Amino acid sequence: MKLIGHAREKEIFSRVIAENRLHHAYILSGREGTGKKLFARETARALLCENGSFMTECSCRHCANILNSEHPDIHIIEETPLKIDTARQINQEAFMSPMSAKKKVYIIDNADSFGLQAANALLKTLEEPPSDTYFFLITSRYSQVLHTIRSRCVNIGFGLLSAEEVTEIVRQHTDKTGEETEQAVRIASGSAGTALNILSDIDKRTLFTGIRSKTELYEEIASLDTKDAIKTYSASLYAHLLEKYKKTGSESLLDFSNYLLDILKRLEYNVSLDMFRLDLYIKTIEVLSEKS
Ligand SMILES: [Zn+2]
Repeated sequence: MKLIGHAREKEIFSRVIAENRLHHAYILSGREGTGKKLFARETARALLCENGSFMTECSCRHCANILNSEHPDIHIIEETPLKIDTARQINQEAFMSPMSAKKKVYIIDNADSFGLQAANALLKTLEEPPSDTYFFLITSRYSQVLHTIRSRCVNIGFGLLSAEEVTEIVRQHTDKTGEETEQAVRIASGSAGTALNILSDIDKRTLFTGIRSKTELYEEIASLDTKDAIKTYSASLYAHLLEKYKKTGSESLLDFSNYLLDILKRLEYNVSLDMFRLDLYIKTIEVLSEKS
């Protein structure tokens, strides 16, 4: 699948790959849902490809395997937080020869969630990796990535997607069109992932409007009895807050919107719903009472 958008970032990597100046450890940072992980995988493909194809189609055996997500030399790690045992395993494997290609690549998501021990385990390998090994760390909260990790990686900040680009990505993933797609694209403000989340929930949710009292809010949030209910509620609240942010420019609204995006993401894992409801309630009260 063609990677849409990020012309500047493509140019940066296209140049360093062509000039053989690629660093061994990068952080790809920027808003959630803009394609950073896909970008890392495409860059990894260029490193393993027999023809050096970067962002262009290729049918060599390495590219074919990568597209099927089954290449043994591309490791995609999505644990939150990264387990210490996983970090140690990466350390050991990094110093072994690649299994099939000439190079190997580790794509590690949620770099902002590394604990101290897991991070410490990785530091030496990030600093002096074997010559055939490359790291791409992904984060939507660069400022929360540990300094020790940051100082060993080159950070590439990813910009937002344009409305046209988000629309094109949405078109690739759903058959929805018209008004609701336009609205989701507008609300998502440059994140295709957010647009897709909103679209998948838009049929179920009622729009979050009006100011609630603390009691009403409490009852509302306490009655969210499934993951889906929390997700739908958060997506709706997210849409509402983002609209409000556009009008007021309030940073705390933007922070809260990001927190909600985080909830939508973390809900994919097994978590205690009680903790989520409590957390959501406390944060919602904080932000909404401040604004009302
Ligand atoms: Zn290829």
